[in-house]
Amino acid sequence: MKRVGVLALQGDFEAHGKALERSGAAPVFVRSAADLDGLDGLVIPGGESTTMLKLLREEGLMEPVHEFGLRHPIFGTCAGAILLAAEVSRPAQESFGLMDIGVERNGYGRQIDSRVTTFAAEPEFETRTQPGAVEAVFIRAPIIRRVGARARVLARYQGDPVLVEQGPHLAATFHPELTADTRVHQLFLKKLE
Ligand code: GLN
Repeated sequence: MKRVGVLALQGDFEAHGKALERSGAAPVFVRSAADLDGLDGLVIPGGESTTMLKLLREEGLMEPVHEFGLRHPIFGTCAGAILLAAEVSRPAQESFGLMDIGVERNGYGRQIDSRVTTFAAEPEFETRTQPGAVEAVFIRAPIIRRVGARARVLARYQGDPVLVEQGPHLAATFHPELTADTRVHQLFLKKLE
């Protein structure tokens, strides 16, 4: 069974732990650099990316997580996707730059900032997992404004990319850990094989 870290400084790390268990992996909550030892991959959960950055710095985790990402897959959801991006706007802030994407924080605006919806993913997503529409929860989600040449869009919602991969890494602007559908986590776990 794959041992997958879940960054547990802030945000909905518990729900990711449960989603990983439902997907057949063993979650390990990561709160210090030593916790990364021997893990096959890492999930950076949703939450508040500015707070997560502050805690990452305070715990001396910025460099260890970046280093981990150079050698292992990382899956970032929502705030986690913001941390994986190359550029962050509104407002700009530091990020790991492990994925060639540009994100705008809270990009869906205040009026319609959170919703539960269903959309069709790219055919490739269904081929690599199982067919069926994706049920998605968006909570003050970022919009992926730029997808670089090395990154690939696996799902769009209202025309904007919401699930993107680049080599070993995966970023979702929605929260697959909050629905019963385990396909997005399973897609990530395949990257650890
Ligand atoms: N709006 C949050 C941020 O900018 C992300 C929201 C989430 O992770 N659900 O960090």
